[in-house]
Amino acid sequence: MIITRILAYRVELPLRETTYKWSGGKSVTVFDSTIVRVETDAGLVGHGEVCPLGPFYLPAYAEGVRAGLRELGPHLLGEDPRELGKLNRTMDAALKGHPYVKSGIDIACWDILGQATGMPVCELLGGRYGEDVPLYRAISQESPEQMAAKVAGYRAEGYRRFQLKVGGDPDVDIARIFAVAEKLQPGDRLVADANTGWVQHEAVRVAKAVRDVDVYIEQPCLTYEECLAVRRQTPHPFVLDENIDDLAMLLRAKADLAMDVVNLKISKLGGLTKIKQARDLCVSMGIGMTLEDSWGGDIATAAIAHLAQSTPTEFLFTTTDFNSYVTVSTADGAPQRKQGRMAASRAPGLGIAPKMDVLGKAVVEVCGKWVPRKEI
Ligand code: MG
Repeated sequence: MIITRILAYRVELPLRETTYKWSGGKSVTVFDSTIVRVETDAGLVGHGEVCPLGPFYLPAYAEGVRAGLRELGPHLLGEDPRELGKLNRTMDAALKGHPYVKSGIDIACWDILGQATGMPVCELLGGRYGEDVPLYRAISQESPEQMAAKVAGYRAEGYRRFQLKVGGDPDVDIARIFAVAEKLQPGDRLVADANTGWVQHEAVRVAKAVRDVDVYIEQPCLTYEECLAVRRQTPHPFVLDENIDDLAMLLRAKADLAMDVVNLKISKLGGLTKIKQARDLCVSMGIGMTLEDSWGGDIATAAIAHLAQSTPTEFLFTTTDFNSYVTVSTADGAPQRKQGRMAASRAPGLGIAPKMDVLGKAVVEVCGKWVPRKEI
């Protein structure tokens, strides 16, 4: 089986809550998502999705996904989509870096592998653990009272894990954490995610002020070294996210005992193949994980569900259902939240069928006559 054509579609995903705000005054109202379609000579077709959290979160931007696919795509025609290790080496040889460009193709090829073998991606990634997985709800940065009200509302919908967007004024952030903590009940988990927004001394101040609150501190500062300094001065469980984007950083952070939980995002690592390697390493090293992506709709959520549910339960700290945050549905068969949890499809591959009328006309098309390598 070989890849014969790669297409990409641009889809706008407006937010149900209209705006999502996080540290440093950053915000998004409509997400710009790219859905990748990989076609084969066998008639099997796979899909993936890449949706950066704006151009100012990670080193990734929406138009960059499409530009990267135009650059990378021609190198993949004629490759076997089922040979994922080899395919990833080919992608890395053809385009240095740019993991988020490769992520959509890699996810689509896992979708094809699943359909070719008759197995859900979840089972191919290691096996299905439990009936479903616990979701967190990201709470957009607002006043302490508004955030506490949001937590109470989402708690009533079944969520038990909450990720507060802090990383603003330290005094307001302290008030945010206390206000929300009052709404929690036994068994709930609270994360204060600063998304690199605090300077080191501010982060230490916040951590000391909320010393007695049962809260995880996530990515307080911009650099790894600053985060490590904060980590060494706080008793709270500690999560790293933005700084951990490859295996070298993961191993370094483990050696430094710099985190208890790591937030791994599919497109940050470069696809399901690469994140599986990091996920399996975390299981071996005893590190809990939030497994997700930067954002997305139905297809990204399907990929996240397969990854999350193939992770041993005690190591899956939490995951997320981005498709419930947005107003546009791009595929049938995607996971739907039930009481703060979701389950990966039991159908082969990702178990989704894209809504072609929503996707519209392709904005990237890579095809052409495939020349066998021996003839080159
Ligand atoms: Mg985070």
